[in-house]
Amino acid sequence: MNNPSQNLKNSYTLITGASSGIGKATALLFAHKKHALILTARRLDRLEQVKQECLAAGAADVLIFAVDVTQKTEIEAMASQLKTKNIKLKCLVNNAGLAKGTELLQNSETSDWDQMIDTNIKGLLYVTRALLPLLIEAKGQIVNMGSVAGRLVYEGGAVYCATKFAVRALSEGFRMDLKGTGVRVTNIEPGMVNTEFSLVRLGNQQKADVVYTDMMPLLANDIAETILWCVDRPAHVNIQELIIYPTDQATVGQVVRGDKSIKNLIK
Ligand code: NAP
Repeated sequence: MNNPSQNLKNSYTLITGASSGIGKATALLFAHKKHALILTARRLDRLEQVKQECLAAGAADVLIFAVDVTQKTEIEAMASQLKTKNIKLKCLVNNAGLAKGTELLQNSETSDWDQMIDTNIKGLLYVTRALLPLLIEAKGQIVNMGSVAGRLVYEGGAVYCATKFAVRALSEGFRMDLKGTGVRVTNIEPGMVNTEFSLVRLGNQQKADVVYTDMMPLLANDIAETILWCVDRPAHVNIQELIIYPTDQATVGQVVRGDKSIKNLIK
């Protein structure tokens, strides 16, 4: 049975939210493995920088698109350009996403709910629907970025958790609807990863830094390596879901810091 990674060198992996964090780390790791890439996010200047880094790292090709995943017309315009270029799409990494706020429901902003639902659920759906013809043609793979928040709810996180529960449900549903097409569907569910996630959620770097103080979170590259491993399995193997926590996080809301942190235990 073929190793899909061999085929990926002659075909493309599309990553949403490639301008920072997990998406950027995945782009760079795939670039090191000589994959061809399509990178999308809203911030085009950031994408330009990531493109140059990926080319320097050895990417076979890098296309970039400024796409807001909440905007169907932008997604459809990109999909039709990819069709015109006869792109072979072997992998879609549905990574773009965010949390906004940690307030209790009664104090939270409905605009934050809209942004999380529109990005994490509807955006993922719009991108997937627009690219499915290409993915089916290539017998490709969809990697959805879920979260441990898709398994356990925490105070102040009701809506974000609901969006990641939805990503888990969608991943299961996609797998059922796509059976027999050769398309694999994987849901990656990380715990705490040190990216711009907390800065976006809390709106301030000082507050974001506190989240990762005195403990060792996952790094974006840890998740990128996990994605690459899932994609590299032979075509008859589908890693359906993977939960990855930092050693310092036993479960949602249970984090060890200071002397008990792995970074101090292994000194
Ligand atoms: P990040 O560094 O903030 O990256 C988020 C990415 O999503 C950025 O590239 C951002 O790009 C993009 N994005 C946000 N809204 C978008 C929109 N409307 N349209 C297009 N792109 C959009 O955070 P991250 O941790 O890497 O997050 C990546 C994914 O991992 C998210 O789905 C998140 O929920 C998930 N996750 C994160 C953690 C964690 O602890 N960090 C844990 C579990 C799951 P632009 O701003 O340039 O558009």
